[in-house]
Amino acid sequence: MAKVTEYYSINEAKKPADKRVYHDNDQCRAGRDIPQSERRNGKGGYRHCEDCDK
Ligand SMILES: [Zn+2]
Repeated sequence: MAKVTEYYSINEAKKPADKRVYHDNDQCRAGRDIPQSERRNGKGGYRHCEDCDK
């Protein structure tokens, strides 16, 4: 498990506000499912992904 620069999916904006998260772990399944073309660096003002904490 490795920390990476925070990133989020541009599709987070389509989710309910309380479901939007950013990722910072390269082993996070949800994070890895985000295509490179849909990633943006930063937190996007969202919560930290809980899976990234494991
Ligand atoms: Zn995550």
